[in-house]
Amino acid sequence: MSMDRRSFLKGTLAVGGVAAAGALVGCSPAKQSESAAQAAADSEAADWLGSAPDVTVEECEESKQADVVIVGSALAGVLAAYAALKEGASVIVLERNGYPHISGSGIGFLNSRYQLENGQPEQNVYKIIADVFNQFQLRADISLLSLWGFHSGEILDAIEEDVLQPAGCPGNVPVQDIPADRAGQLAISENCHVDFDPEGNDSLEKFIFAFHDWIKENGGQIDVETCARKLVQAEDGTVTGLIATNAEGKYVYYEAAKGVVMCTGSYGGDERMLDAFCPDWLAKYAKTYNSYNARASETCPVTTTEKMDDGTGHKMMCWAGAVMEQIDPPVNSWFGTGYYWWPFLHVDVRGRRFMNESGSWLCTTHTLAELPDGVNYCWQIKPTNDFDMPMTVPTGIPLSAWEEVVESSHEYYEADTIKELADLIEVDKDTLVETIERYNELCVAGCDEDYGKLPKYLDPIDDPPYRAVKATINFYATANGVKCNNKLQVLDSNWDPIPGLYAAGNCVGWRMGSGYQDIVPGLCNALSLAHGYFAGKNCAA
Ligand SMILES: Cc1cc2nc3c(=O)[nH]c(=O)nc-3n(C[C@H](O)[C@H](O)[C@H](O)COP(=O)(O)OP(=O)(O)OC[C@H]3O[C@@H](n4cnc5c(N)ncnc54)[C@H](O)[C@@H]3O)c2cc1C
Repeated sequence: MSMDRRSFLKGTLAVGGVAAAGALVGCSPAKQSESAAQAAADSEAADWLGSAPDVTVEECEESKQADVVIVGSALAGVLAAYAALKEGASVIVLERNGYPHISGSGIGFLNSRYQLENGQPEQNVYKIIADVFNQFQLRADISLLSLWGFHSGEILDAIEEDVLQPAGCPGNVPVQDIPADRAGQLAISENCHVDFDPEGNDSLEKFIFAFHDWIKENGGQIDVETCARKLVQAEDGTVTGLIATNAEGKYVYYEAAKGVVMCTGSYGGDERMLDAFCPDWLAKYAKTYNSYNARASETCPVTTTEKMDDGTGHKMMCWAGAVMEQIDPPVNSWFGTGYYWWPFLHVDVRGRRFMNESGSWLCTTHTLAELPDGVNYCWQIKPTNDFDMPMTVPTGIPLSAWEEVVESSHEYYEADTIKELADLIEVDKDTLVETIERYNELCVAGCDEDYGKLPKYLDPIDDPPYRAVKATINFYATANGVKCNNKLQVLDSNWDPIPGLYAAGNCVGWRMGSGYQDIVPGLCNALSLAHGYFAGKNCAA
């Protein structure tokens, strides 16, 4: 079995750990079994890759042919199919579920004719790429970002005309008049964001199904409940097709004359992969708060019994010679209550303040996931007085939005004294009183010299009722994946293309550095869209 370097190291250390645990003098049996359990878990994580199913083309009960075979029918997959069909290729798309995965409805674009005509200003592409790259801690492949930066506008114009407007799903282009007092408060550039949910439910469902319809109307085929299991390679390593299982569990061979495009998304549903690629605290948080199916709906349910985000696609590519990005932390997430947290005081489960509540959600994720005591949530304490909520995409959030969160939460508490509140949320009374006293001092001074919270959001907590709600972060997707060049060809360990193999979307690595950004709303979608488009186009060429 092949194994990547970090997994190998983790496995080696784990084996050493078992031997050492047994040799420790005075170590309690409980401690020993804990160490052994940890070692066993590490060793399992090291085997995240496993081996490809032992099935051959000859053993398949059916075979199908197309120029381009695409795996995954969500955002990256439908853009790949669109571009390949536009190139004149024949296309089959495989989807393991009965329906595609649906994410949020916002996508970032720069300088399309459509945006400019609808009032968004022209953007400085170089500056946005540089700013985003900085937030990626200079650790992404900037050529993958540039593909989006310099070409997303022309892609939007093409799909508006071909797919979205004919389907009655044109983008909504919010134009933000960013107030002067916002300067330095939010990095987000609302004016490069297009939203595709006419009902305002933040769901990309209509957009994705507009593409499904277009693909079928234009000669493409979408095979649902069909899960790709293994790539097929010629002697020289060229990918010539794949083997999948259909709804009856039978093996089907898909022969791809021009190539295969893998658009299989995140691996957040695979615990071994999370253990292998994330630090323990992050793996724990990702397992607890995976929100992959949060946008599934009655018209678009999850019908498969397997997890859609189990990393099968990553494994298929690695079995064929691809390499995974090794980067900490490889996640993309969103704070459970969105931007609503800025005006609040956050305390950990011991009642201590631990963060700048008005900081980027980028750091909030890690701060919260990394809390001690194995806890990855905090308590959000509401200030006494009414206050302005920070404005965000597309129109700003009223205070009533927080009240809605509170009303729908089972973990909301109200009390007449801080000590009673501490009892209800099970934090140390004296610590909570001390924390709130200190916070109020900073609010009165108008200067948070402890954490640097923006003065505008420093509101004291000095009158009953005292109110607290549990705050968590949603984990949406893994951000590391396989190495690709800017033609979206999947590369091997020498960074040479594996002929006939392309990838796009969340299964592509080196696209976000160590944990996303908050400059361009919908950039994760945007990269999937642009990379899907180019992967399909290049594969079909
Ligand atoms: C609830 C939620 C909301 C989000 N909202 C936003 C947002 O507003 N803005 C933003 O930028 N990003 C958002 N994201 C991030 C989002 O994950 C990506 O932007 C987007 O979904 C990536 O698209 P994709 O096509 O790469 O992968 P996915 O959307 O994960 O789709 C992969 C598809 O491949 C299929 N598949 C997987 N393996 C196989 C296989 N072996 N055989 C056949 N089919 C397979 C899956 O069933 C799935 O349909 C959100 C994520 C979640 C979970």
